[in-house]
Order: sequence, then structure tokens, then C-alpha cells
Amino acid sequence: MRGRNILVVGAGPVGSVAALACAQLGHRVTLLEARERIDDSPRASTTQPPTLEILAELGLIDEYIRLGLVAQTFQFWDRPTRRLIAEFDFGRLQGETAYPYVVQTEQHKLANMCIARLMGQADVRMGFEVLHLEEAGNCVKVKTSKGEFSADYVIGADGGRSTVRKSLGIEFEGYTWPERFLVITTKFDFAAALGCCARNYMAGPEEWTNLFKVAGDDLKGRWRAVYNTREDESDEEALSDAAVRARLGRVYVPESERDYLHLNLYKVHQRVAKQFRKGRVFLCGDAAHVNNPIGGLGLNSGIHEAWDLARLLTEEKDLDRYERIRRPLNIEYVQEQTVANKKRLEEREPARREARFDELRRMADDPAKHKAFLMRASLIESARRAEAL
Ligand SMILES: Cc1cc2nc3c(=O)[nH]c(=O)nc-3n(C[C@H](O)[C@H](O)[C@H](O)COP(=O)(O)OP(=O)(O)OC[C@H]3O[C@@H](n4cnc5c(N)ncnc54)[C@H](O)[C@@H]3O)c2cc1C
Repeated sequence: MRGRNILVVGAGPVGSVAALACAQLGHRVTLLEARERIDDSPRASTTQPPTLEILAELGLIDEYIRLGLVAQTFQFWDRPTRRLIAEFDFGRLQGETAYPYVVQTEQHKLANMCIARLMGQADVRMGFEVLHLEEAGNCVKVKTSKGEFSADYVIGADGGRSTVRKSLGIEFEGYTWPERFLVITTKFDFAAALGCCARNYMAGPEEWTNLFKVAGDDLKGRWRAVYNTREDESDEEALSDAAVRARLGRVYVPESERDYLHLNLYKVHQRVAKQFRKGRVFLCGDAAHVNNPIGGLGLNSGIHEAWDLARLLTEEKDLDRYERIRRPLNIEYVQEQTVANKKRLEEREPARREARFDELRRMADDPAKHKAFLMRASLIESARRAEAL
């Protein structure tokens, strides 16, 4: 049955996509966001081909590409020796997807784009923090900092610390890594200096670095250099000017060019909610699962969930399908892959490091293996599994 009353908690990228998808499918949508404006600190940007296909269905793709950067390749490097190990080319996915590349568009741009389209189509409330919710008969009662709401269904897309998940008493199973990740945003042009591409994974036995180019709000281009911290390194030390400049030096930035625009230090987890659904309430995106960002998979899988859930709530049959399909897919394609990606970068034992490099070279050199690796890394395989199920 169409035209249900759906309340989405959280206007991050996943909640705002869920809200837009539900509104476009004819539902009455309320979107509640605790903040007064969308958080624009540097977080996810890599958008995989199946996610681009969803954004196209939502009518967002042209603006999304215009506000970001198209990146067709990614590279693995050995950081200490400055050696390019292997390059993978999404062009090999030609024929498998209408978008054989990733687009690097910062996540706040997606949320803002969806919210702009929701105006007039949905009830969007900024500065409304959800405090608690509970099912009552055929609806869900949602208590917020500014009054109570009621809905047929609730989509909890309120991030890793999800109040919705906690209200439902759902366990967030998994673990937190001992080190933190530091993101340094700089205008230094790594492509010109190192000959790298727009997405690079640089392995290192003590410290690794991932280098990504994004467009920035002014579309003039920025680089994000992501590092692991030492386990015994305090936050103050990691964020100190001297340590940040030393880290830039270790990815070959000359001393005179080590200025930076922004720092972001955060804890990294691998966790999956024990349930993705309880009655009329569903968890989506980081509220349902969190992972290390290596490979750019977590947010993408959240958008896939939002899209699937909007369609499932429209069909309104076998609502258990959501958890039955999405939870194992997250474990297999996001948790397992991001843990493997992290291990590949941080391997310390010299012989095993070289073996991992050889494996990457062999995959890159063999057309069938190259494509198979990309089908998985791009989440096309996961999206196909979801459709088939
Ligand atoms: C610091 C940090 C850096 C990251 N960097 C990267 C990266 O470099 N690459 C990468 O791939 N991924 C990164 N991630 C992960 C990525 O940002 C997330 O996967 C993505 O944000 C998930 O989107 P979401 O919409 O599910 O959750 P969020 O983006 O967390 O959005 C949740 C929204 O819900 C709102 N909210 C929370 N509680 C309530 C409430 N009670 N009531 C109403 N609203 C509420 C929040 O204000 C927020 O707007 C990072 C995450 C963090 C925390």
C-alpha cells in the first residue's frame, strides 16, 4: 500500500537519501535532524558505481558529478620506498555499470542536495533531536527535544551512536581498533608531486597513508591524507602542529609546503547491529554498522540499504527481508573487505609484505582477476546479490 507515514531520524547522507527515496515513492515523510545544519567536516566522499546508479534514479547524478571529481583508477603504493605496486582501472567495468568509475563528492553535499529537493515534498525539521521511541499499537511514538511525533514506520539513520538503536535495546556487536585515524586536508598537489592518481593506498609497516583528492566546496581541489596513529600516541600529540608536519613530510611533502587546512582525528570501529529491524523500526547506515573507511564502502552500503528499504516499505510485504538480506551483505562485503584492506596496508613482516604486493600485481596484470577484484571492491557484486535475493 502506498502513502505511508514514514519518519526518518537523522539527515546525514543515508537518512536524507532514505527520506528522498520514500518521498519520491509517494510516502508522507518527516525527516528529523538534531543539528541546525548539516555537518560539513571531512568524512566520506568515495561513491561507488551501484551508488551512482541509485543517485541517477533519484535524479541527483548530474549535480552530484558536477560537485565532485570523477576517478577511474586507484593505486597501491609502498610508501617507504615510494614504489607504485599496482593500479586498478574501473574502466574494466565497462558494460557492467553505466558508471565505470567512482565519484569523489563529499558526503555533506549529498545530504544538502537531498534536503533541497525534499523542501515542499516532506516535513524537514532541523534542530529536532530524537530522545526516545517506542511502538504503540499500529504506530511508533517518537519523542524529540521539541515535541512528539507518530509514524507508521521509522527509519533510524542517526549514525554510529544511534539513539534509535539504543532505544530499541539492540546490541552493537564488534570491536574498536586501538589506533585512531587522522585526516589532514591540504592543498598540496600529490598527483603533480608523486605522479599518483586521485585515490591512493600507501602501505607502510609502521604507518600507512591513503591520499584522496576531493573537489572542496569551492571546486578548486583539496587532498585528504589519512594516517593511522600509533597506539600509544595521545590525541594531543597526533593533532600537534609538529606531528602533522612530520606526517606530511613522510609522504614527501617538502618542508615549505606542509601547511594544512583541516584536521580530523577519529576512532575506528568494526561493528554490526545484532538486528536491523525491530517491529516498525529499521536501522540504516552507520546506525546499523560501522567500519574502517579503507576502500570507501560503509556509506555506500548505507545508501544501498536506504534505497532497498524505501522500496520494501512501499511493497509492504515480507519486511524481514531487509535484515535477512542486508545484514549478511554488510558482514561479507563491508566488514570483511575493510578489515582485509586495513591488513594489506599495515603488514609489518617483510616477506608477507612482499607477498601481498605480489598478489596485488598478479591481480592487476590478469584481466579476469582484475575485473573480479573490482566487481567486489565496487560493491557491484553485493548489489547484484541483493537484487537476486
Ligand atoms: C569523523 C569521521 C570521519 C569519517 N571519515 C570517513 C572517510 O574518510 N571515508 C569514509 O568512507 N567514511 C568515513 N566515515 C564514515 C562515514 O562518514 C559514515 O559511514 C557516514 O557518515 C554514514 O552516514 P549516516 O547518514 O549513516 O550517518 P551520519 O553521517 O553519522 O549521520 C547521522 C545524522 O543523524 C543525526 N543525529 C544523530 N543523533 C540524532 C538524534 N538523536 N536525533 C536526530 N538526529 C540525530 C546526526 O546529527 C547526523 O546528521 C567517517 C566517520 C566519522 C565519524
